[in-house]
Amino acid sequence: MTEENKNYLDYNGLKIDPLIFTMGFVPKCDMDICGGQCCNWGVYMDKDFKPVILEHEKDIIETMDNNQIKDSELWFEKEYEPDTDFPSGLAIGTELYTMENGEETCVFKNKIGFCTLQMTAVKKGMHKWAIKPKYCIMYPITIIDGVLTCDDEHSKRLDYCGIHHPENFVHSVFEAMTEEIKYIIGDDGYNFLLEHFEKNYKNKS
Ligand code: SF4
Repeated sequence: MTEENKNYLDYNGLKIDPLIFTMGFVPKCDMDICGGQCCNWGVYMDKDFKPVILEHEKDIIETMDNNQIKDSELWFEKEYEPDTDFPSGLAIGTELYTMENGEETCVFKNKIGFCTLQMTAVKKGMHKWAIKPKYCIMYPITIIDGVLTCDDEHSKRLDYCGIHHPENFVHSVFEAMTEEIKYIIGDDGYNFLLEHFEKNYKNKS
């Protein structure tokens, strides 16, 4: 653990790692550049989010492209993983499939890199993230052992926004993720972090 990581902020009991203010990031997530590479390992979600997704099974299938798996029995891993970072204490992973280009990816990613869960929600007039797993919305931010931090392990695998590509960075993860942070911890939580960022980090790097 670095010295910096010991100085967690606290927002309503959620610890925040100041790494979100210092780790660099690209201007924004851009599917045209990366093709949604961060989805290629699938994602874990709370076991209770699986039925939320399955409620829209028919619409998701209609949104999928020809090569995606239409059998919802094959969308999720069979075993739950104990994980205290999820409200129920159990996580379930999405399965992978092989795209036409030979690349393995999350069953919900289509051939042009878009998430069919998000596409389905938009098509149905819901909030774009209503049926998208929380950890997909948040990436590159994550929550590990109750600490809101950056997923630097996953980041190591990525060819555009990953930590091995600082040449593509223009600002911090915090500055890139305004909408996502507001969605996860609300406007008040975001404003709390913004105040801390402006006081301690802005224009100081
Ligand atoms: S659920 Fe959607 S955003 Fe999440 S990994 Fe799968 S395709 Fe990507």
